Amino acid sequence: MRATAVAFNAAATYCASVAWEMGITNKNKLHHVVYGPTRSEYGLGAQLACCARDKAAEAVRAAHANGSDTCPTFRPESSIRYDARTYRLMSMDRVSLNTIHRRVMGQLVLGEYQRRHLYDTTWKIGGAELVQRDGQFFLHITQTKLNPTPDEPTGFLGVDLGIVNLATDSDGETFSGEQVKQVRERRFRQRQRLQQATTRRARWRLRQLAKKESRFQKDVNHQISKQLVRKAKTERKALALEELTHIRTRTDNGWRRSQRRLRTSWAFRQLRTFIGDKAAQAGVLVVAVDPRNTSRTCAVCGYCDKQNRKTQSHFCCRSCGYTAAADTNAAVNIAFRAVRQPAYGAAPFSSGGASTSCLL
Ligand SMILES: [Zn+2]
Repeated sequence: MRATAVAFNAAATYCASVAWEMGITNKNKLHHVVYGPTRSEYGLGAQLACCARDKAAEAVRAAHANGSDTCPTFRPESSIRYDARTYRLMSMDRVSLNTIHRRVMGQLVLGEYQRRHLYDTTWKIGGAELVQRDGQFFLHITQTKLNPTPDEPTGFLGVDLGIVNLATDSDGETFSGEQVKQVRERRFRQRQRLQQATTRRARWRLRQLAKKESRFQKDVNHQISKQLVRKAKTERKALALEELTHIRTRTDNGWRRSQRRLRTSWAFRQLRTFIGDKAAQAGVLVVAVDPRNTSRTCAVCGYCDKQNRKTQSHFCCRSCGYTAAADTNAAVNIAFRAVRQPAYGAAPFSSGGASTSCLL
């Protein structure tokens, strides 16, 4: 498997360089140029050669879309792409995988969640990525399903994304507070210490810490989005969220330095995406609103003033005297704004909604 990963990613890097230099993003066009060399130079079979080409073409397209000016390359231990012709799920949780030598049989070690999805026939099984991490192989299987028609909402649940409480809804319920904050603070201090050291060991520790942090964020984001969507579903409400475009820009106005650090260092975009994906799968409507001034406006009388928000956590209206937790006040405003917005996210597919990961 390791030898296959090395050959596969060398081939993918070659395909990407050709695509990049010749300005090709179309898989079929790329195929005619790279197919021969991929097979003869890198020893890939016909089908794995196509997978390497696809991985390269998609990476080049993504690089163009992100405005990157460097050609994508792949590390020897990077993932192997599998499609319907190169991998096959077998009985008794086994999987058959193409390699540069022959087909090998792997044993999937499925958790409860993975098993439930893999054997749920309403989920269509697509391609897969074989990923190496810390000496173990993980097979990420993509599954897709048509989203249900969203319920007709009876109201809106507004969600404010914030720095102290990552998410607060318009009922005043907060999602992930003190404990998450403590972990983040501790990691930040660790990072600072390591950044001062210049040894190889310190640099390695920093990279490990960054990986750990991103797994932690992803896990927390999954939990928060799950809770929010479940609540909206139970109450038959639509979710009102701030527009994605505002998530970064909003950090510029008025946040103190330390708060800005916390806010930009959390993966809010990912959280927003998770909520959107899970909502679509559950048939919960999501409405995106312009979040400007939602934290400064009074949810009772509508008076908008910077002074209304005296501290990070407290809101006190200078006009009518209404007081509330600042995050809750903002979430209520977001819910109000949703009433006049068109529905968001009409895409009928949840692509890769459940990416099942199995341990081999
Ligand atoms: Zn007021």
